[in-house]
Amino acid sequence: MERPNAWKKYDEQTLLAVEEAAKNYKAYLDAGKTERECAAEAIRLAKEAGYTDLKEAIAAGREVKPGDKLYYLHMGKAVMLFHMGKQPLENGLNIIGAHIDSPRIDVKQNPFYEDNDIAYADTHYYGGVKKYQWVARALALHGVVAKKDGTLVNIVIGEDDDDPVVGISDLLIHLSQEQMQKKASEVITGEGLDIMLAGRPLTDSDDEKEPVKAMLLKILKEKYDLDEEDMLSAEIEAVPAGKARDYGLDRSMILGYGHDDRVCAYAEITAMMKLPAVPEYTCCCLLADKEEIGSVGATGMRAHYFENAVAELLALTGKESDLILRRALANSRMLSCDVSAGFDPLFASAFEKKNAAFLGRGVCYNKFTGSRGKSGSNDANAEYLGRLRKIMDDHNVSWQTAELGKVDLGGGGTIAYICALYGMEVVDSGVAVLSMHAPEEIISKADLYEAIQAYAAFMVDMGK
Ligand code: MN
Ligand code: MN
Repeated sequence: MERPNAWKKYDEQTLLAVEEAAKNYKAYLDAGKTERECAAEAIRLAKEAGYTDLKEAIAAGREVKPGDKLYYLHMGKAVMLFHMGKQPLENGLNIIGAHIDSPRIDVKQNPFYEDNDIAYADTHYYGGVKKYQWVARALALHGVVAKKDGTLVNIVIGEDDDDPVVGISDLLIHLSQEQMQKKASEVITGEGLDIMLAGRPLTDSDDEKEPVKAMLLKILKEKYDLDEEDMLSAEIEAVPAGKARDYGLDRSMILGYGHDDRVCAYAEITAMMKLPAVPEYTCCCLLADKEEIGSVGATGMRAHYFENAVAELLALTGKESDLILRRALANSRMLSCDVSAGFDPLFASAFEKKNAAFLGRGVCYNKFTGSRGKSGSNDANAEYLGRLRKIMDDHNVSWQTAELGKVDLGGGGTIAYICALYGMEVVDSGVAVLSMHAPEEIISKADLYEAIQAYAAFMVDMGK
């Protein structure tokens, strides 16, 4: 039951469309290296496509009708797009949901110190990372600083060609005899992930003990009007510097930071833009934050902003009732769009080949994720998978099944189990990734293209 490689079916015209999707996706990755930036870019694309602000409709009590396109930005970090359908909300929505946070190195709240003429920022890593992968490479700083007067200062340092970059040093191989004997999880420690920020003393500094840190603070004051105390209310993320690139001599792949899970987020946004003027069922694109740390917090999927937004929509369609809200959620159908482990021939022993996903063979469906005895898994219904198979085949979408490596080896979660709490149909669906959670991950352009086709087909045909 080997699934065919998607590249084999493409004619010249489709190859151009695959390349166009890849080009636009790379631009999305370059514009969005944090959850905030990804959310802002999603809103920009939605507005360009005629979406208006649901918050304004709520404030004005404006009626919402079939064909209306509405966006909702939650705390700057989570996004919902709604394209209202012919059927009442009570009959359920077709939902595609992804996450827009990615593993990274966060700067601590009291970060700056000086040690032997180098000024550093202390950090706390975010998400599951192999810490040794994040040293000895160029990092950029992205984020915001919230000042006491309410202003928000946006920071992006390290992306323009003439910007400086920062980074974390590693020990030279010549002196690494002891380090090389350590377990990979201990080669670099969490507290050791400190970012070098400056290396030159301020000559007219009042602070004789820490003149290099004084230089750093002077630059922050002059360039961004920031005081050291302002870092107490800052969110600065260190991420790999540079743009997403074509990968492989045949340019069939993309190397970039944050494919997990921005490739699914981008495929979702693009699929939303391909919908008919008035879809049969209301279609919803969900972009959630904090999946990498357990979907917690006010912007994670476990918060109730999605349910609240559907309740608001019901009110604006004249159907406000707790029972109808429950029906709308329970009758919904969802693709939890998240990346999956791609089979890596260099690490073949981590996979069971018959059930692994392969680069280039199309969008993947994970019936279950979880760990070991399916712990924490969603395990979608067979009936639902049967309906999806028909839709995928009707639309000539290349698709494959996937699992997250060998049964006993590890595992992972997505947002599927959270939406399943409403009793809706949901299955994991995504793009196979190599080097997942590394600073730069790899996907196939064909799989991106097939994900877009799959999500568009799902939105149009599911529920009929
Ligand atoms: Mn993910
Ligand atoms: Mn992940």
